[in-house]
Amino acid sequence: MTQPKSVPEEALAAAHLPALLMATVHLTGDAGLLAEDARPVYPLMGDASDGGLSAEVQQRIRDRARLAINAYLNGAGLPNPPSEATVRRMMTFIAGAEIPDPYVPFLLEELHISGEDPRAPDWSEPTLQAAARRLHVIVIGAGMSGLLTGIRLKQAGVAFTILEKNAEAGGTWFENVYPGCRVDNPNHMYSYSFEPNHDFPQFYSTQPVLLDYFQRIVAKHDLRRHIRFETEVEEARFDEAQGLWRVSARTAGGGRESFEGQALITAVGQLNRPRLPQIDGCDDFAGPSFHSARWRHDVPLDGKRVAVIGTGASAFQFVPEIAPKVAHLSVFQRTPPWMIPGPNYHDDVPEGIKWLIQHVPFYGRWYRFFLFWRLTDGLTEAVKAEPGWNGGPGAVGAANAMLREMLAAAVRIQVPDDPDLAAKLIPDYPPGGKRGLVDNGVWVQALRRDNVDLVTTPIRRIRPEGVETADGALHEAEVLIFGTGFEASNFLVPMRIHGRGGVELHEAWGGDARAYLGMTTPGFPNLFMLYGPNTNIVVNGSIIFFSECSVRYVVGCLKLLAETGARSLEVRREVHDAFNVRVDAENARMAWGAPQVTSWYKNSLGRVSQNWPFPLVDYWSATKAPDPADFIVDGAPQPTLALAPEPV
Ligand code: NAP
Repeated sequence: MTQPKSVPEEALAAAHLPALLMATVHLTGDAGLLAEDARPVYPLMGDASDGGLSAEVQQRIRDRARLAINAYLNGAGLPNPPSEATVRRMMTFIAGAEIPDPYVPFLLEELHISGEDPRAPDWSEPTLQAAARRLHVIVIGAGMSGLLTGIRLKQAGVAFTILEKNAEAGGTWFENVYPGCRVDNPNHMYSYSFEPNHDFPQFYSTQPVLLDYFQRIVAKHDLRRHIRFETEVEEARFDEAQGLWRVSARTAGGGRESFEGQALITAVGQLNRPRLPQIDGCDDFAGPSFHSARWRHDVPLDGKRVAVIGTGASAFQFVPEIAPKVAHLSVFQRTPPWMIPGPNYHDDVPEGIKWLIQHVPFYGRWYRFFLFWRLTDGLTEAVKAEPGWNGGPGAVGAANAMLREMLAAAVRIQVPDDPDLAAKLIPDYPPGGKRGLVDNGVWVQALRRDNVDLVTTPIRRIRPEGVETADGALHEAEVLIFGTGFEASNFLVPMRIHGRGGVELHEAWGGDARAYLGMTTPGFPNLFMLYGPNTNIVVNGSIIFFSECSVRYVVGCLKLLAETGARSLEVRREVHDAFNVRVDAENARMAWGAPQVTSWYKNSLGRVSQNWPFPLVDYWSATKAPDPADFIVDGAPQPTLALAPEPV
């Protein structure tokens, strides 16, 4: 006789209880489980897995879940799915907050209650299938967005080629190999909505795990045969007479190759062209020097005197890793980052949680939902500027000032005996002005080591033997590491992209990159940008969500071309301009738009060119499908490609 199956007790013990309760509602069909005393009350930050519930209620939830899961494991079927009204109650329940109406369809889609992938394109109609076969799309980049584009184009039946400058797929997760590199968004949310992974070893996984996730996606969706590696696009030109994008790329052996397609999609990210600072004497440094995104693993750091310039997201991760190994470390801070407490930042995902995600229907989806809601627009109100605020430059409003106090207190707790260090670590700009960094204490511990100095005196110059500060002090170093960020606002450099009339995109932008919904720009028909201007997020959500929305929209545009047989779509100037006026006005109301803040979110003209200032739900609804009225549609027939598109 076979033993009945049962849920491991360690799984019940480790469970995120509100998610477990939601899964139990699915397993039992009993909405009565949503009792008032089981409604979670979360702390604003930090661990929330017990939902702030009493020990007695926690026990009740675990007992009920044990019964339900064991019954399910031993063959009891799932009851009818909960009604939409019940799902809405469940959402409000697990969120611990009233969910505004516009969010409901958006969050229902995130939940995948139907078990399907609601963002997958449906091109099943036969004439559309035939039209799809005449298209060929060039995608630049095989990182997170480019791979997603490949998956969606495959699902649509559209042929495509992905051109990738690197020797492998993975984008940022291939390029950034500095010690300690990891995602700073929870992984159960930082993953494609249709490719959950119960196996993430940590809540915030390390670079090798992320690279492996994306490379497994490549294999699972059979994308490799569509990718041309070591093929770096230099130039793209729209051939108006033909209605074709012609792309010229440098290939591995230094040769050149041309590609053509009716549409061109850039998926090159915002953060992959390292920015080296303009500091006198940089070239005079006697030892090795490198940027964090071009880490030199061949340069030993053990026992060396090392200088690090920059205290942004990258340095914040590699400084604690290298500090114990080096003889001495000087960390040069121009502006401190705001730290957001995240006690589980380096923690392993307990085996019990992995088990629940893998075996219990809807547990993983509701857990993702919880993360999504909590990190989506939960903090946005606290980073909005209040009109007429006169409480000083350290905040942009009363809620922001309160957040400031909480975050500053979290810093002081870490250095109770050293007010000078606390003062250096607490920013003078408003929280949300720059990206907040998830903090579990290792940064401050590293800075407090005997062999580490946090230098806040401005740098005067680099000398062969180290870094000289404005006070004349020489900070000796044998290795110099730049954690100085990226050429983020110089979108799509160094590529040259020529649209109508041969106009080059960067010349058209004049140093101020703009696009409609981050994707299309007037004068550049059938050019679509992913993670383009004003699609970055600061405090809310994951960039994968943005990519999923953008790719759905772009595939929607291709569908319009396929349905109408039109040659091209070009966003109307007035639509583009009106959108940008709204974006600029709203960005000016956010902490990152405050005049006293400088960051990579602003371009050289001081405009916020990177960030999306509205709620996430607005991007979701604006990108569900393109509105044909937003475009000039060139009705001339589509060109036939010189080379027949590859089969999908
Ligand atoms: P960053 O946030 O732009 O930080 C650059 C640092 O270098 C800042 O501290 C900056 O100071 C400093 N700096 C620049 N020029 C300098 C100069 N001339 N003298 C002195 N200091 C100088 O760059 P990053 O750390 O590479 O991160 C960029 C973005 O990448 C992040 O915001 C994040 O979106 C992403 N990222 C994510 C992760 C993750 O998810 N785990 C990890 C790394 C990066 P100022 O602040 O004064 O300009």
